[in-house]
Amino acid sequence: MNPKDQIKENLSITDVVSTYIRLEKSGAQFRARCPFHNEKTPSFYVSPERKSFHCFGCQASGDIFSFVEKIENIPFFEALKILADRAGISLQDSQKNKEESRLISLLKEATGHFEENLKRSSEGREYLFSRGLTEETIKTFHIGFAKNEWRDLFIFLASKGYSPEEMEETGLMIKTEKGYYDRFRGRIMFPIRNVSGATVGYSGRILPSLVDPSIAQGKYVNSPETSLYHKSKILFGYDTAKKVMNETKEVIVVEGQMDLCMSYQSGIENTIAVSGTAFTDDHINLIKRFCDRVILSFDADSAGQNALKKSAMLCLLAGLDVYVVGDLGTKDPADLIMQDKELWYTAIKNKSHIIEFLTRKAINEEKDERLLGKKIVNDVLPFLRAIQSPIDRNHFLKFISQKIKISEQTLQEELLRINTAINERKEEIITKLQIPKKEMLVREIIALIRLKDLKDSDHIKDLEIDINLFPDQIIEEEIFKIEEKLTSGNSETYFKDLIKSYKKELFNDKIEVLQKKLRDGTENEEEIMKELSTLKNIYKQV
Ligand SMILES: [Zn+2]
Repeated sequence: MNPKDQIKENLSITDVVSTYIRLEKSGAQFRARCPFHNEKTPSFYVSPERKSFHCFGCQASGDIFSFVEKIENIPFFEALKILADRAGISLQDSQKNKEESRLISLLKEATGHFEENLKRSSEGREYLFSRGLTEETIKTFHIGFAKNEWRDLFIFLASKGYSPEEMEETGLMIKTEKGYYDRFRGRIMFPIRNVSGATVGYSGRILPSLVDPSIAQGKYVNSPETSLYHKSKILFGYDTAKKVMNETKEVIVVEGQMDLCMSYQSGIENTIAVSGTAFTDDHINLIKRFCDRVILSFDADSAGQNALKKSAMLCLLAGLDVYVVGDLGTKDPADLIMQDKELWYTAIKNKSHIIEFLTRKAINEEKDERLLGKKIVNDVLPFLRAIQSPIDRNHFLKFISQKIKISEQTLQEELLRINTAINERKEEIITKLQIPKKEMLVREIIALIRLKDLKDSDHIKDLEIDINLFPDQIIEEEIFKIEEKLTSGNSETYFKDLIKSYKKELFNDKIEVLQKKLRDGTENEEEIMKELSTLKNIYKQV
C-alpha cells in the first residue's frame, strides 16, 4: 500500500475534519456549516464510510487530503505531510524519517509518564488547582509532572527500549562525564506541540515549594532546540486553537503557558502563546492560514512592549488587522481570569487598534505639543505605513490628525517621507525596535552574577551595575540561555569577554557624546580632543 492510502486507512475523516469545525451527527453522516462558504444552515456533509466530504452549497468535495489542503490553504504535499505526521506514517522510508518517528514516540511516552506522575503528585496537582486550572484543562493540554529526581525519566525511557543518545537528542537528558541525567526535575511539564499536534518539547515550571534560594534555577526551563523542536516555528496552543481560529478568523496572542491554558479554559479557545519572544515570519504564516485579525495581550514591562511592537509590525506587513488588549490592571491574563473570567472577556472586548493604542500611548507620554508631533512621526507613522489597505491607512490618518493638532496633509507628507518601500525596510524597523546591545549585555551580566554568585567579583565592581534592575522573569530567561552556552565552554573566559564587550559599549557611548559636542561646537574643542584621545587609549587596552 502506498503511503497516501495508508494514511487514509489510518485516519478517520471525522477526526480530521473536526480538528477544524464542529460536526453534528446526522444519520450515517455528519454535517456542519460549510467552512468554505458563508451559510446559516448546514449543507456540508461528511461520510465516514466513504471517507469523503461534500458541500451542497458550494460544491466543494473531496477526501482528507483535499480538505486539509483547502482549509489550511496549503499545497497538496504539505497537507500530505501534516496528515502523515498525524497518522504516524513516514512518507519516505528514509533513515532520517525512521529516526524522527522514533523520537516522536519517545516524546509521547515521556508525556504519558509525566501525566502519570502528576496523578500521583498531590503537590503538583494542588499547585495547578491553586492557579485556577481544572482537571479537564490539565487533561486537554496533557500537563504533567517531572519528579524531583535525577534519573526518574531516564529509567522509565530505558525500560521502554530507548537509548541514552535518543533521549539526549530530544533534549530530555543532559549528558555529563558521569553519565546522563533528567533535564527537568521537580517541574510542572507543559508539552509543546508542533502544527500536527505531536509533542516536540516541553516548558517546565518549577514547583514553588522546590525553589531553592541558594542555587540559581529558572522559573521556567524550556527544551533546547532539537531536530524536532524549532522555537521560531512553534506557536503554543496552535493545535487547540485552530478550530475557533478558523471559525472566527481571529486569534488572541498571550505570553505565557498559564495564560494560554486559563484563556482556553475560560472559553476563549482561539488563544495561542509565544514564549517570551516576538513573532517570526513562520509564526505569521501559520496565523494567516486561518485568521485576518490578531489580538495581542503582552506584559506591560519593557520586554513585553518591545515584543508587542515587533509582532504588531510583522502582522501589519503581512496584511493582518492588529488589535491590542490594554492594561489588565493585574499581572497577566491568567491572574485576571482567576479573579473573574468576565474581566478577561471585557478586556478583549475593549481592545484597541494598534494605531489607536500607540497614538494614545504617545499622547500620555509626551505633554509638549511640538515634541509630541515628532514622537508620533517616529513611534506611530511607521506602523501606519505598514498597514496594507489604503482605506484603513486613511482612516487612521484621520484618527491621528484629530487626536493631535496636526493636519492630515502634514501627516500625509511625513508618511511619504517614510520610505515608500517599507517592505525593504522591514528588517531595519524590526532591528530598531530590538533591545539595545548595551541592555542585552547588562542582562547577561546580571544573569551570570546570579547564576555563579559573582556579586563580589573584582571584574564587576567598577561597572556599577544595579543587579536588581530587571524583573526576575527576564533574568531567569537569561540564566536559561546562559546555562546553554556554559555547557559548551569555559565560564571564566565567557564572563571576561562579556565584561569586555560591555565596557566597549560604555566607551562607545562616551565617545559618541564627545563627538556630538565637537560637531555642535558648544564646548572647548581642545579639551574635548584631549578627552577623546585618552578614552581611545583606554579603549585599546580593553
Ligand atoms: Zn460550501
